[in-house]
Amino acid sequence: MAIDIGFHGAAGGVTGSCYLVHTPGKRVLVDCGFFQGSQRIEEMNAQPFPFDPRDVDVVVFTHAHMDHCGRAPLLTKRGYRGRFVATSATRDMCEVMLADSARIQESDAATENRYRKKEGEPDVEPLYSEEDAKEVMKRTDGVPYDTEVDLGGGVTLTFRDSGHILGAAFVELVVVANGAKKRITFSGDLGNHGKAIIRDPEAPGGCDAILIESTYGDRAHKDQESTLEELAKAVNESLLRGGIVLIPAFALGRTQEILYHLSQLRDANKIPRAPVYVDSPLAVGATDVFRKHPECFDEEMNALMAAHHSPFEYPELHFVRAVEESIALNEDNAPKIVVAGSGMCTSGRILHHIRHHAWKKNAALLFCGYQGRGTLGRMIVDGARKVRIMRQDVVIAANVVTLGGFSAHADQAGLADWVGAPAKGGAKVFVTHGEPEAAQGLRRVLADRTGTDAVVPALNEVHSV
Ligand code: ZN
Repeated sequence: MAIDIGFHGAAGGVTGSCYLVHTPGKRVLVDCGFFQGSQRIEEMNAQPFPFDPRDVDVVVFTHAHMDHCGRAPLLTKRGYRGRFVATSATRDMCEVMLADSARIQESDAATENRYRKKEGEPDVEPLYSEEDAKEVMKRTDGVPYDTEVDLGGGVTLTFRDSGHILGAAFVELVVVANGAKKRITFSGDLGNHGKAIIRDPEAPGGCDAILIESTYGDRAHKDQESTLEELAKAVNESLLRGGIVLIPAFALGRTQEILYHLSQLRDANKIPRAPVYVDSPLAVGATDVFRKHPECFDEEMNALMAAHHSPFEYPELHFVRAVEESIALNEDNAPKIVVAGSGMCTSGRILHHIRHHAWKKNAALLFCGYQGRGTLGRMIVDGARKVRIMRQDVVIAANVVTLGGFSAHADQAGLADWVGAPAKGGAKVFVTHGEPEAAQGLRRVLADRTGTDAVVPALNEVHSV
Protein backbone atom coordinates (compact mmCIF):
# COMPACT_ATOMS: atom_id res chain seq x y z
CA MET A 1 0.00 0.00 0.00
CA ALA A 2 1.42 3.39 -0.98
CA ILE A 3 0.50 6.52 0.89
CA ASP A 4 1.48 9.89 -0.56
CA ILE A 5 2.22 12.89 1.63
CA GLY A 6 2.23 16.34 0.04
CA PHE A 7 4.33 18.87 1.98
CA HIS A 8 2.32 22.01 1.22
CA GLY A 9 3.63 24.18 4.05
CA ALA A 10 6.31 24.29 6.78
CA ALA A 11 8.72 22.90 4.19
CA GLY A 12 11.76 25.09 3.56
CA GLY A 13 10.55 27.35 6.39
CA VAL A 14 8.78 27.33 9.75
CA THR A 15 5.28 28.55 8.94
CA GLY A 16 2.28 27.49 6.85
CA SER A 17 1.98 23.91 8.18
CA CYS A 18 -0.13 21.88 5.75
CA TYR A 19 0.34 18.21 4.87
CA LEU A 20 -2.01 16.35 2.53
CA VAL A 21 -2.07 12.61 3.21
CA HIS A 22 -3.46 10.63 0.32
CA THR A 23 -4.42 7.13 1.51
CA PRO A 24 -6.32 4.54 -0.55
CA GLY A 25 -9.57 5.47 1.28
CA LYS A 26 -9.26 9.11 2.40
CA ARG A 27 -7.55 12.41 1.78
CA VAL A 28 -6.57 13.80 5.17
CA LEU A 29 -5.15 17.31 5.59
CA VAL A 30 -3.01 17.74 8.69
CA ASP A 31 -3.00 21.46 9.62
CA CYS A 32 -3.83 24.41 7.40
CA GLY A 33 -1.76 27.29 8.73
CA PHE A 34 -0.71 30.77 7.76
CA PHE A 35 2.59 31.56 6.15
CA GLN A 36 4.06 34.27 8.39
CA GLY A 37 7.07 36.55 8.20
CA SER A 38 8.13 38.86 5.39
CA GLN A 39 5.60 40.40 3.00
CA ARG A 40 6.79 38.02 0.26
CA ILE A 41 6.08 35.00 2.47
CA GLU A 42 2.70 36.31 3.64
CA GLU A 43 1.57 36.89 0.06
CA MET A 44 1.58 33.09 -0.28
CA ASN A 45 -1.54 32.93 1.92
CA ALA A 46 -3.80 34.30 -0.82
CA GLN A 47 -2.39 31.97 -3.50
CA PRO A 48 -4.56 29.05 -4.63
CA PHE A 49 -4.05 25.87 -2.59
CA PRO A 50 -1.85 23.40 -4.52
CA PHE A 51 -4.77 20.93 -4.31
CA ASP A 52 -8.52 21.24 -4.77
CA PRO A 53 -10.10 21.92 -1.34
CA ARG A 54 -13.17 19.97 -2.54
CA ASP A 55 -11.06 16.80 -2.76
CA VAL A 56 -10.09 16.85 0.93
CA ASP A 57 -12.17 14.52 3.16
CA VAL A 58 -11.13 15.62 6.64
CA VAL A 59 -8.85 18.24 8.25
CA VAL A 60 -6.90 17.65 11.46
CA PHE A 61 -5.54 20.49 13.64
CA THR A 62 -2.47 19.75 15.78
CA HIS A 63 -2.92 23.01 17.74
CA ALA A 64 -4.36 26.51 17.66
CA HIS A 65 -1.34 28.59 16.65
CA MET A 66 -2.10 30.57 13.50
CA ASP A 67 0.71 28.95 11.51
CA HIS A 68 -1.15 25.65 12.01
CA CYS A 69 -4.83 26.61 11.64
CA GLY A 70 -4.92 30.17 10.23
CA ARG A 71 -5.90 29.29 6.65
CA ALA A 72 -8.74 26.92 7.61
CA PRO A 73 -11.47 29.56 7.01
CA LEU A 74 -9.96 30.16 3.57
CA LEU A 75 -10.14 26.44 2.86
CA THR A 76 -13.90 26.38 3.56
CA LYS A 77 -14.39 29.63 1.65
CA ARG A 78 -12.74 27.95 -1.34
CA GLY A 79 -14.94 24.88 -1.32
CA TYR A 80 -13.88 22.46 1.43
CA ARG A 81 -17.07 20.77 2.67
CA GLY A 82 -15.84 18.30 5.29
CA ARG A 83 -15.22 18.38 9.02
CA PHE A 84 -12.29 19.44 11.21
CA VAL A 85 -10.95 17.39 14.12
CA ALA A 86 -8.90 18.65 17.08
CA THR A 87 -8.49 18.06 20.80
CA SER A 88 -11.28 19.74 22.79
CA ALA A 89 -8.95 22.46 24.10
CA THR A 90 -7.56 23.17 20.62
CA ARG A 91 -11.10 23.41 19.31
CA ASP A 92 -12.03 26.07 21.87
CA MET A 93 -8.74 27.89 21.40
CA CYS A 94 -9.21 27.91 17.60
CA GLU A 95 -12.57 29.58 18.14
CA VAL A 96 -10.90 32.50 19.95
CA MET A 97 -7.89 32.69 17.62
CA LEU A 98 -9.70 32.36 14.27
CA ALA A 99 -12.33 34.96 15.21
CA ASP A 100 -9.52 37.36 16.08
CA SER A 101 -7.67 36.53 12.85
CA ALA A 102 -10.84 37.16 10.81
CA ARG A 103 -11.33 40.55 12.47
CA ILE A 104 -7.74 41.45 11.56
CA GLN A 105 -8.32 40.33 7.91
CA GLU A 106 -11.47 42.44 7.73
CA SER A 107 -9.93 45.54 9.28
CA ASP A 108 -6.75 45.25 7.13
CA ALA A 109 -8.92 45.09 3.99
CA ALA A 110 -11.03 48.07 5.17
CA THR A 111 -7.87 50.15 5.74
CA GLU A 112 -6.46 49.17 2.33
CA ASN A 113 -9.78 50.04 0.66
CA ARG A 114 -9.82 53.53 2.16
CA TYR A 115 -6.56 54.22 0.29
CA ARG A 116 -7.78 52.47 -2.85
CA LYS A 117 -10.94 54.58 -3.01
CA LYS A 118 -8.84 57.77 -3.10
CA GLU A 119 -6.67 56.27 -5.83
CA GLY A 120 -9.68 55.12 -7.89
CA GLU A 121 -8.63 51.47 -7.49
CA PRO A 122 -11.13 48.61 -7.03
CA ASP A 123 -11.69 47.28 -3.49
CA VAL A 124 -9.86 44.22 -2.15
CA GLU A 125 -11.71 41.46 -0.33
CA PRO A 126 -10.49 40.28 3.08
CA LEU A 127 -8.78 36.88 2.94
CA TYR A 128 -11.75 35.65 4.96
CA SER A 129 -14.49 36.99 7.20
CA GLU A 130 -15.78 36.30 10.70
CA GLU A 131 -18.55 34.29 9.04
CA ASP A 132 -15.95 32.05 7.36
CA ALA A 133 -14.24 31.51 10.73
CA LYS A 134 -17.60 30.64 12.34
CA GLU A 135 -18.25 28.11 9.58
CA VAL A 136 -15.00 26.31 10.47
CA MET A 137 -16.00 26.17 14.13
CA LYS A 138 -19.46 24.79 13.32
CA ARG A 139 -17.72 21.88 11.67
CA THR A 140 -14.94 21.28 14.21
CA ASP A 141 -15.18 18.29 16.54
CA GLY A 142 -13.26 18.40 19.82
CA VAL A 143 -12.08 14.95 20.91
CA PRO A 144 -10.08 13.69 23.92
CA TYR A 145 -6.36 12.86 23.94
CA ASP A 146 -5.28 9.21 23.72
CA THR A 147 -8.54 8.06 22.17
CA GLU A 148 -8.76 6.46 18.76
CA VAL A 149 -10.96 8.45 16.36
CA ASP A 150 -12.33 6.72 13.25
CA LEU A 151 -12.06 8.99 10.22
CA GLY A 152 -13.62 6.38 7.90
CA GLY A 153 -12.03 4.77 4.84
CA GLY A 154 -9.74 2.63 7.03
CA VAL A 155 -8.09 5.63 8.68
CA THR A 156 -7.99 6.27 12.45
CA LEU A 157 -6.17 8.93 14.41
CA THR A 158 -5.07 9.45 17.99
CA PHE A 159 -4.02 12.76 19.53
CA ARG A 160 -1.11 12.55 21.98
CA ASP A 161 0.19 15.27 24.25
CA SER A 162 2.95 17.25 22.55
CA GLY A 163 3.68 19.60 25.50
CA HIS A 164 3.74 22.69 23.27
CA ILE A 165 0.71 24.80 24.26
CA LEU A 166 -2.67 24.05 25.84
CA GLY A 167 -4.46 21.48 23.66
CA ALA A 168 -1.46 20.84 21.39
CA ALA A 169 -1.03 17.32 20.12
CA PHE A 170 1.03 15.12 17.92
CA VAL A 171 -1.02 12.90 15.67
CA GLU A 172 -0.73 9.17 15.15
CA LEU A 173 -2.50 8.18 11.95
CA VAL A 174 -3.17 4.50 11.26
CA VAL A 175 -4.18 3.47 7.75
CA VAL A 176 -5.54 0.01 6.97
CA ALA A 177 -6.08 -0.93 3.33
CA ASN A 178 -5.76 -4.02 1.13
CA GLY A 179 -4.80 -6.17 4.11
CA ALA A 180 -1.88 -3.91 5.01
CA LYS A 181 -1.41 -1.42 7.86
CA LYS A 182 0.69 1.70 8.06
CA ARG A 183 1.33 4.18 10.85
CA ILE A 184 2.33 7.78 10.21
CA THR A 185 3.13 10.21 13.04
CA PHE A 186 2.99 14.01 12.75
CA SER A 187 4.87 15.80 15.53
CA GLY A 188 2.94 19.08 15.25
CA ASP A 189 4.99 21.45 17.43
CA LEU A 190 6.88 19.70 20.20
CA GLY A 191 7.34 21.30 23.59
CA ASN A 192 9.77 20.90 26.47
CA HIS A 193 9.66 18.79 29.58
CA GLY A 194 8.88 20.57 32.86
CA LYS A 195 6.92 23.47 31.37
CA ALA A 196 4.46 25.42 33.48
CA ILE A 197 0.76 24.47 33.46
CA ILE A 198 0.70 21.83 30.71
CA ARG A 199 1.83 18.22 30.67
CA ASP A 200 5.12 16.97 29.22
CA PRO A 201 5.24 15.60 25.68
CA GLU A 202 4.42 11.89 25.37
CA ALA A 203 6.81 9.60 23.52
CA PRO A 204 5.75 8.49 20.05
CA GLY A 205 4.97 4.84 19.39
CA GLY A 206 6.53 2.76 16.65
CA CYS A 207 5.59 3.87 13.14
CA ASP A 208 6.44 3.55 9.46
CA ALA A 209 6.98 7.27 8.89
CA ILE A 210 7.34 10.28 11.16
CA LEU A 211 7.35 14.00 10.46
CA ILE A 212 9.26 16.10 12.96
CA GLU A 213 9.37 19.85 13.38
CA SER A 214 12.81 21.51 13.55
CA THR A 215 12.19 25.11 14.68
CA TYR A 216 15.23 24.85 16.99
CA GLY A 217 16.86 21.93 15.19
CA ASP A 218 20.30 23.54 15.40
CA ARG A 219 20.18 25.09 18.88
CA ALA A 220 20.19 24.36 22.60
CA HIS A 221 17.96 26.30 25.01
CA LYS A 222 18.97 28.14 28.15
CA ASP A 223 17.67 26.46 31.26
CA GLN A 224 14.43 27.70 32.76
CA GLU A 225 15.71 28.16 36.30
CA SER A 226 18.22 30.89 35.49
CA THR A 227 15.58 32.56 33.30
CA LEU A 228 13.20 32.72 36.28
CA GLU A 229 15.95 34.28 38.39
CA GLU A 230 16.51 36.92 35.70
CA LEU A 231 12.76 37.57 35.60
CA ALA A 232 12.56 38.07 39.37
CA LYS A 233 15.65 40.29 39.39
CA ALA A 234 14.39 42.58 36.61
CA VAL A 235 10.89 42.83 38.14
CA ASN A 236 12.33 43.67 41.59
CA GLU A 237 14.79 46.26 40.32
CA SER A 238 12.07 48.14 38.48
CA LEU A 239 9.22 47.89 41.00
CA LEU A 240 11.40 48.83 43.96
CA ARG A 241 12.40 52.02 42.13
CA GLY A 242 8.73 52.84 41.51
CA GLY A 243 8.85 51.69 37.89
CA ILE A 244 6.51 49.91 35.53
CA VAL A 245 7.39 46.49 34.13
CA LEU A 246 6.21 45.87 30.58
CA ILE A 247 6.12 42.31 29.26
CA PRO A 248 5.20 41.93 25.57
CA ALA A 249 3.77 38.42 25.24
CA PHE A 250 1.91 36.22 22.77
CA ALA A 251 -1.72 35.87 23.77
CA LEU A 252 -1.83 32.10 23.65
CA GLY A 253 0.63 30.22 25.83
CA ARG A 254 3.31 32.70 26.77
CA THR A 255 0.93 35.07 28.59
CA GLN A 256 -0.44 32.26 30.78
CA GLU A 257 3.05 30.87 31.37
CA ILE A 258 4.28 34.29 32.54
CA LEU A 259 1.23 34.64 34.80
CA TYR A 260 2.03 31.24 36.29
CA HIS A 261 5.63 32.19 37.05
CA LEU A 262 4.69 35.63 38.39
CA SER A 263 2.20 34.05 40.79
CA GLN A 264 4.78 31.46 41.91
CA LEU A 265 7.41 34.16 42.50
CA ARG A 266 4.83 36.24 44.37
CA ASP A 267 3.82 33.32 46.61
CA ALA A 268 7.49 32.62 47.37
CA ASN A 269 7.95 36.32 48.25
CA LYS A 270 10.58 36.64 45.53
CA ILE A 271 8.76 39.62 43.98
CA PRO A 272 6.54 42.25 45.63
CA ARG A 273 2.76 41.92 45.60
CA ALA A 274 2.34 44.61 42.95
CA PRO A 275 -0.66 44.86 40.63
CA VAL A 276 -0.45 42.71 37.48
CA TYR A 277 -2.50 43.63 34.40
CA VAL A 278 -3.18 41.46 31.36
CA ASP A 279 -4.05 44.14 28.81
CA SER A 280 -5.14 42.17 25.74
CA PRO A 281 -8.65 40.99 24.88
CA LEU A 282 -7.17 38.07 22.93
CA ALA A 283 -5.03 36.97 25.90
CA VAL A 284 -8.02 37.34 28.24
CA GLY A 285 -10.05 35.11 25.88
CA ALA A 286 -7.23 32.56 25.67
CA THR A 287 -6.90 32.50 29.48
CA ASP A 288 -10.63 31.72 29.71
CA VAL A 289 -10.02 28.68 27.50
CA PHE A 290 -7.29 27.54 29.93
CA ARG A 291 -9.79 27.72 32.79
CA LYS A 292 -12.21 25.53 30.81
CA HIS A 293 -9.67 22.77 30.16
CA PRO A 294 -8.14 21.45 33.38
CA GLU A 295 -7.81 18.06 31.64
CA CYS A 296 -4.71 19.53 29.95
CA PHE A 297 -3.01 20.58 33.20
CA ASP A 298 0.01 18.86 34.73
CA GLU A 299 0.16 17.67 38.33
CA GLU A 300 1.57 20.89 39.78
CA MET A 301 -1.09 23.01 38.12
CA ASN A 302 -3.86 20.62 39.25
CA ALA A 303 -2.54 20.79 42.81
CA LEU A 304 -2.58 24.61 42.70
CA MET A 305 -6.15 24.62 41.38
CA ALA A 306 -7.28 22.09 44.01
CA ALA A 307 -5.79 24.37 46.71
CA HIS A 308 -7.68 27.36 45.22
CA HIS A 309 -4.37 28.87 44.24
CA SER A 310 -4.99 29.54 40.57
CA PRO A 311 -2.23 31.56 38.85
CA PHE A 312 -5.07 33.21 36.93
CA GLU A 313 -6.84 34.45 40.05
CA TYR A 314 -5.40 36.45 42.92
CA PRO A 315 -6.23 39.87 44.33
CA GLU A 316 -3.56 41.88 42.45
CA LEU A 317 -4.28 40.30 39.06
CA HIS A 318 -6.54 42.21 36.65
CA PHE A 319 -7.74 41.31 33.17
CA VAL A 320 -8.38 44.26 30.86
CA ARG A 321 -10.71 43.99 27.89
CA ALA A 322 -12.27 47.45 27.44
CA VAL A 323 -10.33 50.07 25.46
CA GLU A 324 -11.18 52.82 27.98
CA GLU A 325 -9.72 50.74 30.78
CA SER A 326 -6.55 50.19 28.75
CA ILE A 327 -6.22 53.93 28.09
CA ALA A 328 -6.66 54.65 31.80
CA LEU A 329 -3.92 52.12 32.50
CA ASN A 330 -1.56 54.00 30.15
CA GLU A 331 -2.04 57.17 32.14
CA ASP A 332 -1.44 55.52 35.52
CA ASN A 333 2.16 55.89 36.70
CA ALA A 334 2.00 53.65 39.78
CA PRO A 335 4.41 50.68 39.90
CA LYS A 336 2.89 47.64 38.25
CA ILE A 337 3.44 44.78 35.82
CA VAL A 338 1.69 44.91 32.44
CA VAL A 339 1.51 41.88 30.15
CA ALA A 340 0.22 42.85 26.70
CA GLY A 341 0.40 41.93 23.03
CA SER A 342 1.58 41.71 20.46
CA GLY A 343 4.50 39.53 21.44
CA MET A 344 6.87 41.15 18.94
CA CYS A 345 5.50 44.68 19.48
CA THR A 346 4.27 44.89 15.88
CA SER A 347 0.77 46.03 16.90
CA GLY A 348 -1.61 46.00 19.85
CA ARG A 349 -1.78 47.66 23.23
CA ILE A 350 1.86 47.05 24.18
CA LEU A 351 2.76 49.86 21.76
CA HIS A 352 0.81 52.37 23.83
CA HIS A 353 2.47 51.16 27.02
CA ILE A 354 5.94 51.42 25.48
CA ARG A 355 5.13 54.92 24.22
CA HIS A 356 3.98 56.03 27.67
CA HIS A 357 6.61 54.41 29.85
CA ALA A 358 9.71 53.04 28.08
CA TRP A 359 11.43 56.45 28.20
CA LYS A 360 11.66 56.14 31.99
CA LYS A 361 14.84 54.81 33.57
CA ASN A 362 12.99 52.91 36.28
CA ALA A 363 10.81 51.03 33.77
CA ALA A 364 11.63 47.54 32.49
CA LEU A 365 10.90 45.95 29.16
CA LEU A 366 11.11 42.17 29.44
CA PHE A 367 11.14 40.10 26.25
CA CYS A 368 10.15 36.49 26.81
CA GLY A 369 9.54 35.29 23.25
CA TYR A 370 11.13 35.11 19.84
CA GLN A 371 11.51 38.51 18.13
CA GLY A 372 11.34 38.22 14.34
CA ARG A 373 13.63 40.18 12.04
CA GLY A 374 12.35 43.68 11.25
CA THR A 375 9.93 43.86 14.21
CA LEU A 376 9.95 46.67 16.79
CA GLY A 377 10.68 44.10 19.48
CA ARG A 378 13.77 42.93 17.62
CA MET A 379 15.00 46.51 17.16
CA ILE A 380 14.73 47.19 20.91
CA VAL A 381 16.34 43.86 21.82
CA ASP A 382 19.16 44.64 19.37
CA GLY A 383 19.86 47.88 21.24
CA ALA A 384 17.84 50.65 19.54
CA ARG A 385 17.59 53.51 22.03
CA LYS A 386 15.16 55.59 20.01
CA VAL A 387 12.26 54.03 18.10
CA ARG A 388 9.29 55.41 16.20
CA ILE A 389 5.84 54.42 17.46
CA MET A 390 2.65 55.87 16.00
CA ARG A 391 4.41 58.84 14.38
CA GLN A 392 6.30 59.68 17.54
CA ASP A 393 9.94 59.16 18.48
CA VAL A 394 10.24 57.30 21.76
CA VAL A 395 13.47 57.06 23.75
CA ILE A 396 14.08 53.63 25.24
CA ALA A 397 15.65 54.28 28.65
CA ALA A 398 13.98 51.29 30.33
CA ASN A 399 15.99 48.25 31.40
CA VAL A 400 15.69 45.93 28.38
CA VAL A 401 16.04 42.25 29.28
CA THR A 402 15.79 39.20 27.04
CA LEU A 403 14.56 36.16 28.94
CA GLY A 404 15.77 33.26 26.84
CA GLY A 405 14.44 30.17 28.63
CA PHE A 406 10.71 30.28 27.86
CA SER A 407 10.59 28.50 24.51
CA ALA A 408 7.47 26.48 23.69
CA HIS A 409 9.58 24.36 21.34
CA ALA A 410 11.98 21.52 22.12
CA ASP A 411 15.60 22.25 21.26
CA GLN A 412 17.93 20.07 19.20
CA ALA A 413 18.51 17.51 21.95
CA GLY A 414 14.80 17.40 22.82
CA LEU A 415 13.80 16.83 19.19
CA ALA A 416 16.47 14.19 18.61
CA ASP A 417 15.49 12.35 21.82
CA TRP A 418 11.82 12.34 20.87
CA VAL A 419 12.28 10.98 17.37
CA GLY A 420 15.17 8.67 18.35
CA ALA A 421 13.20 5.49 19.12
CA PRO A 422 11.00 5.49 15.99
CA ALA A 423 14.03 6.39 13.86
CA LYS A 424 16.04 3.47 15.31
CA GLY A 425 12.99 1.28 14.73
CA GLY A 426 13.27 1.98 11.01
CA ALA A 427 10.68 4.73 10.53
CA LYS A 428 11.21 7.00 7.57
CA VAL A 429 11.91 10.45 9.02
CA PHE A 430 10.88 13.74 7.42
CA VAL A 431 12.30 16.93 8.92
CA THR A 432 9.90 19.87 8.48
CA HIS A 433 8.93 23.20 10.11
CA GLY A 434 12.40 24.77 10.26
CA GLU A 435 14.61 27.27 8.49
CA PRO A 436 17.02 25.37 6.21
CA GLU A 437 19.96 25.57 8.68
CA ALA A 438 17.80 24.29 11.55
CA ALA A 439 16.33 21.43 9.50
CA GLN A 440 19.78 20.37 8.27
CA GLY A 441 21.15 20.66 11.82
CA LEU A 442 18.57 18.20 13.12
CA ARG A 443 19.08 15.94 10.10
CA ARG A 444 22.82 15.72 10.85
CA VAL A 445 22.29 14.93 14.52
CA LEU A 446 19.81 12.20 13.62
CA ALA A 447 22.29 10.70 11.18
CA ASP A 448 25.01 10.70 13.89
CA ARG A 449 22.80 9.31 16.62
CA THR A 450 20.64 6.81 14.79
CA GLY A 451 22.13 6.33 11.33
CA THR A 452 18.86 7.62 9.87
CA ASP A 453 19.00 9.34 6.51
CA ALA A 454 16.16 11.81 7.10
CA VAL A 455 14.44 13.63 4.24
CA VAL A 456 14.10 17.42 4.33
CA PRO A 457 11.25 17.99 1.86
CA ALA A 458 10.99 21.13 -0.25
CA LEU A 459 7.70 23.02 -0.48
CA ASN A 460 5.01 21.11 -2.39
CA GLU A 461 7.10 17.98 -2.79
CA VAL A 462 5.16 14.72 -2.56
CA HIS A 463 6.75 11.66 -0.93
CA SER A 464 5.45 8.11 -0.76
CA VAL A 465 5.68 6.07 2.41
ZN1 ZN B 1 2.92 26.23 17.59
